[in-house]
Amino acid sequence: MRFLRMEGPYKLDSDTINTKVSLTSPGNYALGKESEEGKFLVGLVGRSDSDIRDSLASWVGKTKWPHFKFSYAASAKAAFEKECDNYHDFDPPDNFTHPERPQDTNWQCPRCKIFG
Ligand SMILES: [Zn+2]
Repeated sequence: MRFLRMEGPYKLDSDTINTKVSLTSPGNYALGKESEEGKFLVGLVGRSDSDIRDSLASWVGKTKWPHFKFSYAASAKAAFEKECDNYHDFDPPDNFTHPERPQDTNWQCPRCKIFG
C-alpha cells in the first residue's frame, strides 16, 4: 500500500490554506483531485524547506488541480526524504523529474541512487 501520510484533502485556495496551514515550517504537499468515489488522486508532490504555507500559496491559480493535502516536517531533510518517498510511491503525472536536493547538501534519496 502507498500512503501520503498527509492531512486533507482541502480546497486549493488562499482562505483554506491560511486556515488549515497555520505553522511556518518545512513540509510536504500533494496537489490532486478527489475521484467520484472520494479517493484522492495525486497529480503532483512537492516540499518546502522552510515554509509549506508559502509553497502552497504559490500554486493558487497556477494549477489545474483543485485540492491539496499537506504535512509538516521536522526538518528540511525530513521533507526532502518524504518527497522522495512520495515521488517513488505515486509517480505523479506532473512530476517530470526526480526531486532535487538543496545545492549545499549531500543528502541521498532513500529509494534510489540518482545522486550517486
Ligand atoms: Zn529517488
